[in-house]
Amino acid sequence: MSTGSLSGSALLGSARPPAQLYDVALLDLDGVVYLGSTAVPGAAAHLAAAVGAGMRLGFVTNNAARSPQQVAEQLTRLGVPADASLVITSAQTAARVLAERLPPGARVLVVGTEALAGEVRQRGLLPVGPPAESTAEPVAAVVQGYSPDTGWRDLAAACRAVRGGAWWVASNADPTVPSVDGPLPGNGAFVDVVRATTGLEPSVTGKPEPSMHAECLDRMKARRPLVVGDRLDTDIEGASRVGCHSMIVLTGVTRPVDLLGAPPPHRPTYLGADLGALLYAHPEVRRLPAGWNCLQWSVAEPRHTGDGLALAGSGDPLDALRALCAGAWETGLTAVGAADAPAEQALRRLGIPIG
Ligand SMILES: [Mg+2]
Repeated sequence: MSTGSLSGSALLGSARPPAQLYDVALLDLDGVVYLGSTAVPGAAAHLAAAVGAGMRLGFVTNNAARSPQQVAEQLTRLGVPADASLVITSAQTAARVLAERLPPGARVLVVGTEALAGEVRQRGLLPVGPPAESTAEPVAAVVQGYSPDTGWRDLAAACRAVRGGAWWVASNADPTVPSVDGPLPGNGAFVDVVRATTGLEPSVTGKPEPSMHAECLDRMKARRPLVVGDRLDTDIEGASRVGCHSMIVLTGVTRPVDLLGAPPPHRPTYLGADLGALLYAHPEVRRLPAGWNCLQWSVAEPRHTGDGLALAGSGDPLDALRALCAGAWETGLTAVGAADAPAEQALRRLGIPIG
């Protein structure tokens, strides 16, 4: 496993495409390969080209709604041939964590899909649905995973059980799931309902906890893996915790402005607009005497206290963002000004407010 520059003060450059440099990509799915039932444009072709360049693909999703088999079928349907053995879901991890502590046959209230219940059953535990009555037989644990069918009765049953002393396990805490219409409520939003109602905290088993990435690395015998995701607080932090290089793609929930304010564990190694970034060289970001530079773009350090970073130059806005990340990560400043018209245009295209 590579342990080069992690959580650094700038993105890394690479003269060779990541698909040639890393033997395995650990890919997040929602917001990276697909958005709901729709493929991210170009994802299948980009991944096919990455495989052609020698990269193997593993899939690591915090979404507990579907079984590895269902995920593999969806990937294959979208043009990314995948085997269920290369898919790890947070439902599997949650069920494993439950079984490590609970006796066989223990009752577990499942607030989530049939796929999550199936994982619980496979581990020798007894999944049960929300009881109609508050006097129903007690459960040893509550497991909560994303399902578009979760309703008030499910959440109320979870609250009763958790307040009654059941162990509360959440498959993941992502507040949102990406969709073609923008972010929509994710498991974390439903977890918040139970937290707000009970005042208690769940054990969270999915990313950024390192066990899913670690299991995928182990299954794939990866020597030099690259984690690819669309979320800083799960995918990228998860990569930092297992000591892997990572790449953020902008096809899901992370916006360029979020990158500027990322704390060290949330800072990726590489940045890409989409999975096509596996296939090209990444430009260096250089430290200059009074700022930073990436290709034709430069970012100047503030001259006076209270000033922001100043962007100038021309070219691909993504390279401007690379230079800005270095400035923001080193100084802690996220206010950005435009020193010329192309910079102003680039900041608008990146959706970064001009300070
Ligand atoms: Mg995602």
